[in-house]
Amino acid sequence: MRPFSLSPSLSLAFSSLAVALSLGCTAPAFAHEDEPATATTAATITAATAEQAPATPPKLIVAIAVDQYSADLFQQYRERYTKGLSRLLQGAVFPSGFQSHAATETCPGHSTLLTGVHPNRTGIVANNWFVPGIARADKQVYCSEDETNPKSNSEDSVISPDHLKAPTLGDLLKKKNPASLNVAVSAKDRAVVMMSGHTADAAYWLKGKGFTSFEGRKLSPAALAQNEAMARTVAAGAGDLPVPGWCGAVDRPTDMGGFTIGTYRFPLKAGDMKGFSNSPRMDVATTELAVRMLDEMPLGKDAVPDVLSVSYSATDKVGHAYGNEGVEMCIQMNVLDQTIGTLLDALDSRGLDYVVVLSADHGGADAPERMRLQGVPEAARLDEALTDEGLSASVSRATGVVPRQGPLFYGAGGSGDVWVNAGLSARDHKAVVAELVSQLKANPQISGVYTADELRKVKVPSGHPQDWTEIERVAASFDPERSGEVLMMTKRAVVPGTRPRPGYTATHGSPWDYDRRVPMLFWRKGMVRMEQAQPVETVDIAPTLAGLIDLSEPAGTWDGRCLDIYAGEADSCSR
Ligand SMILES: [Zn+2]
Repeated sequence: MRPFSLSPSLSLAFSSLAVALSLGCTAPAFAHEDEPATATTAATITAATAEQAPATPPKLIVAIAVDQYSADLFQQYRERYTKGLSRLLQGAVFPSGFQSHAATETCPGHSTLLTGVHPNRTGIVANNWFVPGIARADKQVYCSEDETNPKSNSEDSVISPDHLKAPTLGDLLKKKNPASLNVAVSAKDRAVVMMSGHTADAAYWLKGKGFTSFEGRKLSPAALAQNEAMARTVAAGAGDLPVPGWCGAVDRPTDMGGFTIGTYRFPLKAGDMKGFSNSPRMDVATTELAVRMLDEMPLGKDAVPDVLSVSYSATDKVGHAYGNEGVEMCIQMNVLDQTIGTLLDALDSRGLDYVVVLSADHGGADAPERMRLQGVPEAARLDEALTDEGLSASVSRATGVVPRQGPLFYGAGGSGDVWVNAGLSARDHKAVVAELVSQLKANPQISGVYTADELRKVKVPSGHPQDWTEIERVAASFDPERSGEVLMMTKRAVVPGTRPRPGYTATHGSPWDYDRRVPMLFWRKGMVRMEQAQPVETVDIAPTLAGLIDLSEPAGTWDGRCLDIYAGEADSCSR
């Protein structure tokens, strides 16, 4: 890839915006929120309105996930987009999509996007879960791992879709017609695996210095070429990423106790692969590989529909490292918009008939230190007493139960699951669970405590996800075969992770809407723009796309429903 630089058209967009601002002709954000960001859009809308709903199914589904792209982040920056995201804003816009479940982590979230079912049915209850009886010392299993492979461990896993219990859209298409292609790329293996499922024709994710694939699969020429291009970019290094003029007031430091966040511009030291892969530049590299895959596979070129899944990881990397209210996220929003524009332009220039859906695996909250400065005085970090170490120590003290080997509890934090040491007698086991529940209920940071026995009896609801009770949210990502024995939910604005450190200051994983609510955007050439503010769910994406390509599956296949994304009388769910 080329070193990152401002494209001429971007510079132009900035200067037009600067002109508009200096002339004082922009309305307040709330007034033109529903309106397009560019001057050309009024004409685009008029032209689009004149067209009918597309008469034939698209040949290619482009499913984009933006990791940690909360509805709040979308709301904050939507008026600034000028490229790919601006185009998607001209389709069907659902600003309140929900990852309805409580375990708002990457793996569970990606598992809902193209399966159409909640994590309680995908079986992907967390990024990592614990199997107290497993032989490995840390008892930890990774979501997209084949732990039966002797070469696999929780730190360096052999990647596999084995844990995914539901078929993806790509799986279903290939079952109907093996000629359908199912391709996925991302910096994260778990994103690739959860979006492509069990039948990926090509699947690439980043490991170390380059893209890799499943064990035993050779890298294709496209992947090799991308790795070489990336290596050249990293070797050369690069300067700061450009700061759009509209970043404005977010460009200021916040003290995190020994270091600051809020003003970093991602200079790339020559040879610093880690710096590259944790920066907005990684999204550009992901687009480049996706574009190479368009030609290599080739996608969207015959009568049967194909799926290309692209999961952009940099928003999540930036969010974790710097939170989402500094200049770092503003820079990332700009790069994301640009690079999605590059992807859409590449699809157009190949003359492909495609539909795009864009959503996210989960949302996110800002670093609590900055939230406290900005109107949320109750924002806090997780109490040390609620970590697995803290809980193991205090419950051992209260009950006198000390396991012969290993800690009393595994997990806690993150998804809120707590697993119990497998070596306890039945009596001790019962005593420690009772004591754990009682201690958790007494902690002021805790909002709810649920046992596996309770959760087994809860029916996962359908209907507006905003109205779900906490236990219903927890049940939607509870799998009795894998989840913890006790699940603890922390109160709103309590951020998992007990202290900030450079490179990790903010996170997600809670049952609160800042972590659950994500945008859902659908776009196809000729579609009439519409916006629907009512809440919808990410499990609606698979049945909605199925409606467009005439894929019918038996009732009960999906937890979600088909959304009619055609603005007028035409119904995209009953072609
Ligand atoms: Zn994620």
